[in-house]
Amino acid sequence: MSDDARVYSYSAVLMGSPILLKLFEHNEPLASRVFHLIKQYEDLLTVNRAQSQVMDINHAAGLNPVSVSRSVYALIKCAKAASLVPGGAFNLAIGPLVKRWKIGFKGDSVPPADDIARLLTLTDPHNVVLDDAQSSVFLTRAGMEIDLGAIAKGYIADRVRDYLRQQGVTLGLINLGGNVQTLGSPEGGWSIGLKKPFAQDNALLGAIEVVNKSVVTSGVYERFFELDGRRYHHILDPRTGYPLDNELDSVTIIASESLDCDLWTTLIYGMGVEKGVEALRGRPDIEAIFVTKQREIILSSASHYRFTLLDDDYRLTVRTA
Ligand code: FAD
Ligand code: MG
Repeated sequence: MSDDARVYSYSAVLMGSPILLKLFEHNEPLASRVFHLIKQYEDLLTVNRAQSQVMDINHAAGLNPVSVSRSVYALIKCAKAASLVPGGAFNLAIGPLVKRWKIGFKGDSVPPADDIARLLTLTDPHNVVLDDAQSSVFLTRAGMEIDLGAIAKGYIADRVRDYLRQQGVTLGLINLGGNVQTLGSPEGGWSIGLKKPFAQDNALLGAIEVVNKSVVTSGVYERFFELDGRRYHHILDPRTGYPLDNELDSVTIIASESLDCDLWTTLIYGMGVEKGVEALRGRPDIEAIFVTKQREIILSSASHYRFTLLDDDYRLTVRTA
């Protein structure tokens, strides 16, 4: 399939998400190898099937440490460090709550408050014990579960970028259901759409132009269900066990590594605009676009991308720390 004379788009569905690969050459075998690579990482990292390396760790919770491959170990180590960032919402041990709420999956429901309180006691990231020498991970309490759903796509997007580069590709884009990673600079750069929250028609709030950067958005409108007039979305507050409730409809991060983007979207989601901007002080490599329920678009900075506003109902401000 081709969009125009020069761009070739290849698509698949993996990780419950639409996957899109753009190349500037017609190369079906390369696209197949990329999808195969994504599938291999999915098989290592998924928690939506009984077996994966992450599930091996979860099945052994309260029993014994499990040695995993170097790359899975490194990702879990990074996830544990992010889980200890003060004020951030990211917690790799959030699994029992994700499984109980089932948001985005069949059977989603609002759990009774005492269930949530009980499951919260199983989400302390300090109880994820790592052993560098063995590349092993031990969940010290039975019932604990690691969930890398917030960051695994970012990690995989970076591996796809590396693979394409290694295959001699100089221009390309991979979109893992909202996690975009780019390679090189086509004429005019890559233009990534910023979605309008809850819009039915895929309307865009703006366009983000980048070169060799990843763009990742976490939003309350991506996966949710409604009950009795209330909306329950899939980013859980590790402090309360309920969906995060603050002024934000979405956070987009622009950075070189998609894994950083993915980590920071969830970290910053928990912080809100003020603390989020503050946290990015001294991190010029990580840039945020906040979209608030009050129809504001706030840029923490815009040094490594260009933003074009496409919706007049929203007010655009730049708030550097
Ligand atoms: P993000 O905002 O980046 O992350 C939200 C997700 O992170 C939640 O869905 C939850 O999994 C987790 N999470 C929630 N709260 C927190 C928190 N406080 N701290 C840390 N993590 C949190 N979807 C399907 O429908 N079917 C599948 O078979 C399927 N398989 C998948 C396999 C893999 C390897 C991956 C990475 C994803 C898969 N998914 C699947 C999608 C997955 O269930 C999530 O919906 C998706 O990863 C969310 O990514 P996001 O960028 O949209 O949201
Ligand atoms: Mg994410």
